[in-house]
Amino acid sequence: MTTTDPTEEHPFWEGAARGVLRIQHCADCGHTTLLARGTCPSCLAESLAWVDTDPVGVVESTTRIDRPPSASVSAGYGLAVVRLDAGPCILTRTTEELPAIGQRVRIGFSAASANGRHLPVAHA
Ligand SMILES: [Zn+2]
Repeated sequence: MTTTDPTEEHPFWEGAARGVLRIQHCADCGHTTLLARGTCPSCLAESLAWVDTDPVGVVESTTRIDRPPSASVSAGYGLAVVRLDAGPCILTRTTEELPAIGQRVRIGFSAASANGRHLPVAHA
């Protein structure tokens, strides 16, 4: 059964705090997914496990955020959707310059944000 329990995301954030990008991998069919799930979205097996992955991929889209979502967030940052070489897409912040569509990038992590999470950041 697919779940949206936020506590199941913990392995992702635990990896992020160590500078490691983690995704879930299905031992039955090899499918990979970024969102925390209880069952594989490809074969429905309950064989997903968190694994470290190579944090590299290709930029699929970008946007610049000039109006922040809340007063506690500074405006003027970029976002990118990156298709990881391992399969899934990840939404990341970008460094000051927006990367080009199709550009290869490496995903790192920011210093801890106000909620203690280290956010993904795409680097050229
Ligand atoms: Zn599977």
